[in-house]
Amino acid sequence: MMTKIRVHDHWFGECPLLGPSLYVWVQGCPRRCPGCFNEETLDFGGPSTPMSPAEVAALTLRSGGGLVISGGEPFSQAGPLAEACHLVRAERPDTLILTYTGFLLEQLARGRRADYIRLLKEIDVLVDGPFVRERTTNFPLAGSDNQRVFFLSGRVPPGRWAQLSRSHVQIAITTDKRMRLVGSGGAGLDMHTLVERLSMAGIELQA
Ligand code: SF4
Repeated sequence: MMTKIRVHDHWFGECPLLGPSLYVWVQGCPRRCPGCFNEETLDFGGPSTPMSPAEVAALTLRSGGGLVISGGEPFSQAGPLAEACHLVRAERPDTLILTYTGFLLEQLARGRRADYIRLLKEIDVLVDGPFVRERTTNFPLAGSDNQRVFFLSGRVPPGRWAQLSRSHVQIAITTDKRMRLVGSGGAGLDMHTLVERLSMAGIELQA
């Protein structure tokens, strides 16, 4: 039986690069980058919903668009996530998939882990490297300028990259109707500070 994916949260949102997409934040990350905005997703035993690859695939197809996988560390659950991507593509081959990772692409591609390679083969766009607070950036899709964006499949039209907005904060509505902040803030905006300021103004969002 295929292992389930530990999903911290998921919602339908507008990815700056892929357009309408299902966002999946997986639970568990082996790193502890100072300033990580996704602290709730770090503990491998933390709050999560087990979802089968087929369930994640069905939700992606319902989104009518792409799939964005973040976390947490997606490659800590590479096998079942690769299966979910495979199931999506079996139904809709042109679905675009973007994945974040704290690993470097070179570490993932060394070929010692079959599950890493399987997931890499499904991904169109990979944003790699850990978040480094001292290097926060306004670069689209990345939180710090050490992170790199790889177009692994050639399926994303190059024009989409050129049209990316510099906006780094989105308000997302989860599938169970909660509001959530998404993004990395950018060089001039710390996301933790933004959440605190909203809270002081009486607006509670899920970080
Ligand atoms: S790799 Fe990402 S999720 Fe993991 S600690 Fe660093 S910023 Fe947070």
